[in-house]
Amino acid sequence: MDFVCPKCRKELTLCEGGVKRCPEGHSYDRARAGYYNLLLGSSGGTHGDNRQMVEARARFLSLGFYEPLADRVAELVYRYLPSGEALLDAGCGEGYYTERVYRALVEREGASPIDIFAFDISKDAARLTSRRCPSVNVCVASSYNMPLADSSVGAVINIFSPLASEETHRVLRQGGKFIVAYPDRRHLFDLKEKLYRNAYENEPESEPPPGFRLVERVRIGYDIHVVGRENTESLFLMTPYAYRTGERGRKILSELTELDTRVEFIVDVYEKITENHGKEI
Ligand SMILES: [Zn+2]
Repeated sequence: MDFVCPKCRKELTLCEGGVKRCPEGHSYDRARAGYYNLLLGSSGGTHGDNRQMVEARARFLSLGFYEPLADRVAELVYRYLPSGEALLDAGCGEGYYTERVYRALVEREGASPIDIFAFDISKDAARLTSRRCPSVNVCVASSYNMPLADSSVGAVINIFSPLASEETHRVLRQGGKFIVAYPDRRHLFDLKEKLYRNAYENEPESEPPPGFRLVERVRIGYDIHVVGRENTESLFLMTPYAYRTGERGRKILSELTELDTRVEFIVDVYEKITENHGKEI
């Protein structure tokens, strides 16, 4: 199994020089870091998180604060993805979770190759994932036009990435699992309280996306203590608040040398139950 062409959705095959081609003649070069750019349009790869944000996230995640989440996601994939079926990490970021899941599956599969696919809309993110996980198939692509064939994967993971449930539904086989991690009510609440006058709690979505049913919900919550201005700033840069914090908040942040905050995640496991997205059969 390989990625499909984002233009015609026919399977790509690896040709000489690392080029991938579809039967219609569309071709894609391999980037030096190992990923393929399968994003349509001339601006390919300039979307999504920029280099600064990707590197900040990689730095923060390397400190291990989100390890309990990574372990839990890996455990769920291990448990729900049958041996020999493909996995997709949609919106893989810099590959922190991809690597965890890869390692968990490799342990199970032994030395046999496994089909793990990962993409992100950011070229910088795809580059880091490629370097971190050389055995994983990595490309630059959009969640709204996933470069995978219909019903071709057994599980999709989505960790803090935009939820493209229709495309996810299309690429999953019937009965396949959609594993989604997102912030729970008081995730980073103490950080928010420092930055905003009226900090509000998140309101996590509780309804399954159309065409799916909820099979398991895991809640993870604990307190973290982040020391050092570079580290508190890295945490800030990987949140949505980096986009919308005003001057007052930024000033507070620049003086923050340590931070105690709650982190809370929900990991939902959904199962694809209908052939049509949103329609019962
Ligand atoms: Zn094509």
